[in-house]
Amino acid sequence: MEKTDIKSMNMEELTEYIISLGEKKFRAKQIYGWIHVKHVESFEEMTNISKKFIEKLSAEAKIVCVKKEEVQISKIDGTRKYLFSLDDGNVIESVLMKYKHGNSVCISSQVGCRMGCRFCASTLDGLVRGLRPSEMIDQIYQIGKDIGERISNVVVMGTGEPLDNYDNLLRFIELLTDENGINISQRNLTVSTCGLVPNMRRLADKKLSITLALSLHASNQKKRMSLMPVANSYDIHEVIDACRYYFEQTGRRVTFEYSLVGGVNDTDEDAAELSQLVAGMNCHINLIPVNPIKERDYVQSNAEVIKAFKNKLEKNGINVTIRREMGRDIDGACGQLRKKHIDKEKGID
Ligand code: SAH
Repeated sequence: MEKTDIKSMNMEELTEYIISLGEKKFRAKQIYGWIHVKHVESFEEMTNISKKFIEKLSAEAKIVCVKKEEVQISKIDGTRKYLFSLDDGNVIESVLMKYKHGNSVCISSQVGCRMGCRFCASTLDGLVRGLRPSEMIDQIYQIGKDIGERISNVVVMGTGEPLDNYDNLLRFIELLTDENGINISQRNLTVSTCGLVPNMRRLADKKLSITLALSLHASNQKKRMSLMPVANSYDIHEVIDACRYYFEQTGRRVTFEYSLVGGVNDTDEDAAELSQLVAGMNCHINLIPVNPIKERDYVQSNAEVIKAFKNKLEKNGINVTIRREMGRDIDGACGQLRKKHIDKEKGID
């Protein structure tokens, strides 16, 4: 029988579980602290728990951890890319970015992805499975331990579509922002989605203070469909409406991510159409020079084109920034480190 994953439990569930094993209620709080504050990896490290109960716990339950397999450190800006392995042998990647305002970790939410965005490396081999809450949060714990510093910001922008793993994502958010745990403020968490409208609305109804980032990448439905198969399911206007709804429900300004692909979505007309699309919205547009992957022939827009695109949006009164490229010297784009690892194992070059 598979052992119980107690790192995915919230305090309430853990308390019930500990009582069901015959221990007192207050033990749950101690164990929760060992897991979510001290980040221990084995029951033996819980020094205020009796030997007998530790034996019982070890027989019934496990502390799910991700295991560091490889780290690439950028010589330019200290960005670190981690390759972690999971209990079932799958691998995922996470990134640490060091900013003046603190350490930010970008985590994966799934093993692979089934959304099929044309420019993205994470989706090339499809979806294997969603990550458990424990596997999501442990990426942050392991990186915190590795650098010996506090993590202040988290973005769910690594491999996977977080809203395609909705229940586990919500539990992860609960654990991450719990004051009895690592206690990261909801305001310091961003969840990025390709635009799964029903779950965007469900998330809005939770009225959390997290930032929603929408991967827009096109200014009209036709272009969006050519870049993102998910657009076949949800029209661009439905997606924008869901973003407006998110703002109405939460008061949080939505971020639009727009990866600029040379000659595809970076023209003057695109900028004009994009301005119209988001006119009057309380939003922020993040322009990302597309990171070319070898499996596709998309190219980056050149620097002048990017600047002109930004200027045009600014002239139309839109908040816009160009994403600073971090870790340019290490396998850049989402999913490239994992993909390289898998291909190497398969003997593909
Ligand atoms: N599935 C979620 C989160 C993961 S992708 C989403 O779609 O938002 C995180 C962001 O990186 C998305 O905006 C995605 O479109 C973008 N992205 C993926 N591959 C990229 C590449 N090669 N170059 C630039 N941006 C990329």
